[in-house]
Amino acid sequence: MPLSPCPLYIAGEWLTPKIPGTPVFNPSTGDVIAECPAGGTTEVNAAVEAAQAAFPAWRDTPPVERARVFFKYRQLVEANFDQLCQTVSREHGKTNAEARGSIFRGLENIEYACGIPTLLFGDSLRNIARGVDCDTINLPLGVCVGITPFNFPAMVPLWMYPTAIACGNTFVLKPSEKVPLSAVLLGQLLEQAGLPKGVFNIVHGGRAAVDALLTHPKVRAISFVGSTPIAKYIYDTGTKHGKRVQANGGAKNYIVVMPDADVGKTVENLATAAFGCAGERCMAGSTALAVGAAADRVLPELVKAANAIKVGPTDRAAQPDMGPVITGQHRDRVLSLLATGEKEGAKIIADGRGVKVAAAPKGFYVGATVVDGVQNNMTLAKEEVFGPVLNVMRMDDLDAAIEQANQSAFGNGAAIFTNNGRAAREFTMRVKAGMVGVNVGVPATMAMFPFTGWDDSFYGDLHIQGKESIQFYTQQKVVSSRWFGGDVGDVWKK
Ligand code: NAD
Repeated sequence: MPLSPCPLYIAGEWLTPKIPGTPVFNPSTGDVIAECPAGGTTEVNAAVEAAQAAFPAWRDTPPVERARVFFKYRQLVEANFDQLCQTVSREHGKTNAEARGSIFRGLENIEYACGIPTLLFGDSLRNIARGVDCDTINLPLGVCVGITPFNFPAMVPLWMYPTAIACGNTFVLKPSEKVPLSAVLLGQLLEQAGLPKGVFNIVHGGRAAVDALLTHPKVRAISFVGSTPIAKYIYDTGTKHGKRVQANGGAKNYIVVMPDADVGKTVENLATAAFGCAGERCMAGSTALAVGAAADRVLPELVKAANAIKVGPTDRAAQPDMGPVITGQHRDRVLSLLATGEKEGAKIIADGRGVKVAAAPKGFYVGATVVDGVQNNMTLAKEEVFGPVLNVMRMDDLDAAIEQANQSAFGNGAAIFTNNGRAAREFTMRVKAGMVGVNVGVPATMAMFPFTGWDDSFYGDLHIQGKESIQFYTQQKVVSSRWFGGDVGDVWKK
């Protein structure tokens, strides 16, 4: 099969520069399907210049006209939904159902951007002093940048640029070099929606492209999603260079299972939270904290559910329950963390390590795995595994479970399964995490709510999505005005 094209998009032109690249795999088969050009300063400078040149006209385009582009974009994404799903599945390995779900979440961000005329409303107060009126105006910043991870090739970019652009900014997207093809397709659809040239640009590459973006004097704001060490690097370097930065990092999310939890529903949700998207989710439930009798009630069923998950290629009509992980290297890392876990005394009670996929023997597969007896000092308890692995820790009571969850350096998500409102309330108030689920295993927020990671899961002040994203992508001007010749009282007297 010929390699899929992976062009850059700069100033409204699709470009294929003759520069070295990195392989893009189909993780289902292990085949190389594209080469992602490794852009650097030259490509970044061209993209930022194009975005800067397009900014004044786009800033001055009325919000209702900007919204119209996103109404059209919404239609186009819907019309090309299947192709987008296939592209996401092919380069990432998500099942068709997972790809569909993720693109729906992205589509909701486009829908949110369609509401930009009202989202940009400012505040206004007449006569704040005699004859003086005060108005806030929300203005765009200029060139904004998005740097995105491999695990949601379409959804995470869609968290960023529809809102940024609808606010009147121009944008440069640097997608993950492991999954650049979905971003290219999204860009082609945005071009068809009638966005003026230069308002949206794509550069590909890794660290060199990122560094050129972080330090470019014309870049005003950076949205980042990826692992914690890189998120911290992006925040430190970006802010040092005077940019506004929101940087989402990694996670280690705990799910508390109380002894009174509904077994069937809890097992179903634990399996989805831990093994959905092959565990490659920042909101994956990575550790079940089984309180008291919960372990004996839930674990046998959980093991059955894990063993029943069929693993296989996601790029063909017959769909498995779970696809591959992103690369051979990543699969080996997951396997090595499991080996370390065993060495440190944990017990693997559902073992996906030896999974064989006859239909695609060179794909990057790990089966659903459950590890019991995980202790706080073990590597498995500390590292983000980012694979289909669920740790189980046994807890005496709710207090111990909350304490365990709260010692994490991360603070992305946490959930509780219980029928006891008092326990749920206690948990939601005391747990140290930005997104909390009550009988919801993956409490990832939708477009209208911010994606509120805490601690090492987020660096910055204003989160991605919802009203916080409008604030992130705008700056406020407050205008105080007075017209001489009498205050407002005089007007009324006439
Ligand atoms: P990553 O940090 O390796 O890469 C993310 C981006 O940073 C990519 O575009 C990559 O090209 C770039 N990058 C990588 N190394 C770099 C370096 N040394 N210098 C500059 N840029 C660099 O993350 P990933 O492996 O693609 O994605 C998985 C991670 O993302 C997981 O840790 C996951 O939890 C996290 N994630 C977080 C959220 C969230 O909202 N908190 C959402 C999705 C994924």
